[in-house]
Amino acid sequence: MKTLCVAKCKNHEGICRGCLRTMKEISEWRLMNDEAHTQTIAQIQGTKTTHDCILCGQPAYCGVEDGKQECWCFELAKRDTSGLPKGQCVCRACLSGLPLLQA
Ligand SMILES: [Zn+2]
Repeated sequence: MKTLCVAKCKNHEGICRGCLRTMKEISEWRLMNDEAHTQTIAQIQGTKTTHDCILCGQPAYCGVEDGKQECWCFELAKRDTSGLPKGQCVCRACLSGLPLLQA
């Protein structure tokens, strides 16, 4: 089975800082088929992208922009994106590094 795990898995408010998979992707990984693995890996590694991250300029993927009902970012604890332009997504690495939104 393909895996992105780099043995540094650490839940960082919904996303792994090691492999950048969401906790949902990690927990469902065994249940996903090969096609789903390939898709997810492509999104994380930047070979399947919808836009460039507005913070670091690296290729990023947004599920909603790709015509899906959901996006990986829905799985994360809300980050403080108030300093970012509206309607623009950042990449997994950048989003996971933003401070949590204070309730
Ligand atoms: Zn970024």
